Amino acid sequence: KPMVLILIGLPGSGKSTFCDGVLRISSRPWVRICQDTINKGKSGTKKQCLSAAATALNEGKSVIIDRCNVERLQRSEFLTPSAEKHAVFLDLPVELCVSRSVARSGHEGRLQGGRAAAVVNRMARNVEPPRLSEGFCRITVCRNAKDVEGSVEMYGLLGAKDSLPGGVFGQEKKIQLGIARFLGKTTEADRKAKRKACEDSNSEKKVKGGGRSWNSALHDIAMEPEEHRDVVLEYSDDYVVVNDAYPKARRHVLVVARVEGLDSIGDVGRERLPLLRELHAVGLKWAKKYIEEDGSLSFRLGYHSTPSMRQLHLHVISQDFDSPHLKNRKHWNSFSTPFFVDSVDAMSRLEEEEDNNGSTKDAKEFLDRELRCHRCGIVLPNLPNLKSHLGSCEAPFPVEANGRLVSA
Ligand SMILES: [Zn+2]
Ligand SMILES: [Zn+2]
Repeated sequence: KPMVLILIGLPGSGKSTFCDGVLRISSRPWVRICQDTINKGKSGTKKQCLSAAATALNEGKSVIIDRCNVERLQRSEFLTPSAEKHAVFLDLPVELCVSRSVARSGHEGRLQGGRAAAVVNRMARNVEPPRLSEGFCRITVCRNAKDVEGSVEMYGLLGAKDSLPGGVFGQEKKIQLGIARFLGKTTEADRKAKRKACEDSNSEKKVKGGGRSWNSALHDIAMEPEEHRDVVLEYSDDYVVVNDAYPKARRHVLVVARVEGLDSIGDVGRERLPLLRELHAVGLKWAKKYIEEDGSLSFRLGYHSTPSMRQLHLHVISQDFDSPHLKNRKHWNSFSTPFFVDSVDAMSRLEEEEDNNGSTKDAKEFLDRELRCHRCGIVLPNLPNLKSHLGSCEAPFPVEANGRLVSA
């Protein structure tokens, strides 16, 4: 199936460089449709681009649409139904794009000098990040030169018959910047989300010092992942993947559902089974990725019976529990007792027309239980003892965990 690869980015974001890179190494028949040169080497019209793209696709070639395409409407006509539709979003800092556009002299377009800065800035205000709902099967977001290099390689090495997995992808693991970073952010969208969260629930604990409410942080991210790019690893229309702000193990990510009004696994009805399956599949993908990087890791995927934060989220957590953020009995027991509901169990209860209320209703009692090793089952007197035991315990994980444990 021929592919339409739509580049989305400001002038100076590196679209030409991207095309040159892919065309240089690719064995796939690509045609670059560049609005800056389509008119016999001079700048042309969108109509000319559309007709050139249609011609190439009819000949079975894949096309790269090399124009800014920052607004949804501008790119919609290029989403040819018969083609496989991809987007590469060159989301580089505006200042960088401005300085490149201003500096450029031998560029094919005519956007030069002082006028360039004004044009880029105006365009930057109108950027609409691509979404799967527009019809893309894959969106790759690049935020720096390294990301761009990575996607050039990815598309460049794609043979004529190869395809790529669908979804929304950042190219790089994002560094966990901690919750403080986005607690400090006060964009209008944040304030709006906060007001909304406060209206939704009167019982919310407030962060000391009048900050925003901690337990709605996930809700805010789920509603507007674009506003929280510094912590989001991946998102789609249905879910957002983030690092846990206080990881309780070496690897600990959350797959957060984006549907409004769904906060805990007990709320989930049978009609949401497809959603749970999707969250599970995404969690599994991340667990496998981490296991590929470190074969000693094992993972469990599951939900807390009574979550401490709003917005349904699946914990994907490695079973080493090697983390300075694991600080008390409740932390430990929330991952090592039936308070932690394995994702596969939550799904199979729904498949059997039960819900997850019965198993989560009184689960809080588990949090105050003794500290028991999740591998060998011995009880330790206190947390420091438990932690040093965990560092050396090599007992196999109990049979109960089989099928629920994801390992190499
Ligand atoms: Zn949680
Ligand atoms: Zn043990």
